[in-house]
Amino acid sequence: MQLKKINERLIGSILHVFGIPLILAFLGRLLMDRRAMFKAGPLSTNLRMIRSIFMLTDDKLNCRVCGYRSEVPPWGGDGRTPLYDFCPCCGVEHGYQDSTRIGARKYRDRWIAAGAEWEDDGFKPEGWLISEQLAAVSSDFQ
Ligand SMILES: [Zn+2]
Repeated sequence: MQLKKINERLIGSILHVFGIPLILAFLGRLLMDRRAMFKAGPLSTNLRMIRSIFMLTDDKLNCRVCGYRSEVPPWGGDGRTPLYDFCPCCGVEHGYQDSTRIGARKYRDRWIAAGAEWEDDGFKPEGWLISEQLAAVSSDFQ
């Protein structure tokens, strides 16, 4: 009887101690699976990808035209202060052609019709999928 209680306590504390690391290992495994979908790229690409997994709902970093995720929000943290820089993917000038939904759509349609070429190939991730990136465009600009 006493031994059974000790065993139960032991199992309970083992689960308590190892429960969180097990959950973390499980999440890490999920992350690795998702990463494996892409070919391993440079560290910055992987960090961007990991960040994108945790910030799926935050689309302020995404280009309004093509969905490319920047390091800094192209329209500022408030979504109203464009940087007037160029998207390395679709080449839109943030604050100009992407000021309105109609403008963003028009630019996107023309960009896709022209072959959806990258403005700066150096930013293009390996295994890039246009459909996946376009899905990241904020719903206000799709
Ligand atoms: Zn873009």
